[in-house]
Amino acid sequence: VDELEQQEREELYIAQLYKEDEQLKMVRAGIVAAGLRDISVPIGYGRLLTMLVQLNNAQRVLEIGALGGYSGICLARGFTSTSGQLVSLELHQTNADLASRHMSLTGFDQQVTYMVGDARDSLQQLLLEDEQFDFFFIDADKEGYPFYLDVALKLARPGAIIVADNIFLRGRVLDESKQGPAVQAMRQFNERIASDPRLLSTSLPGYDGLTIAIVKK
Ligand code: SAM
Repeated sequence: VDELEQQEREELYIAQLYKEDEQLKMVRAGIVAAGLRDISVPIGYGRLLTMLVQLNNAQRVLEIGALGGYSGICLARGFTSTSGQLVSLELHQTNADLASRHMSLTGFDQQVTYMVGDARDSLQQLLLEDEQFDFFFIDADKEGYPFYLDVALKLARPGAIIVADNIFLRGRVLDESKQGPAVQAMRQFNERIASDPRLLSTSLPGYDGLTIAIVKK
């Protein structure tokens, strides 16, 4: 089997090992029923988000890119107390409404706030309000990743975790012939998060690639 096929088989194997529960299946079905493409995180990364929020005892989590609330539920599941708060930035009102409905159906409505509009504007607002977070999940427009990292570093408490999805852009990041804005931004993001002295970071090659960084204390 070639390498790609092997990776797909491994991802399928993981999906079978870690079956999605009824709530997560309901979210995926809701996304499709709304006529959207289900580009929520895969189950393997969803579970990792829950584990990392829990391990870091994160109380304030910032998500950039909500879609239908799948990753939002995974993040909220990691809260170790009911005081945990998720702030989720989403460009489209319709997506935020869908995500909000799914958060309510799973019992997390008291723990989430949606900020609708371009995440760049919402982040400026959070900066002005001097907000702080101890967990970040970056999963919105890929051109924005370098800016999202800059702002995350400003909003981060020492010891905060920054997670970013889709660091390979389905192989385009590794293909020298690809030079579009999203690819260039992602390369810049990857190089910066890997080498910033304020961060301890690593990247995982499964699915479309995921980077995890800890903001040093
Ligand atoms: N994190 C979600 C999950 O795993 O369940 C999936 C997010 S999906 C990959 C990306 C989302 O980012 C979409 O809902 C899209 O509308 C949103 N988005 C795109 N550009 C954005 C922007 N400039 N500001 C805020 N959200 C944006």
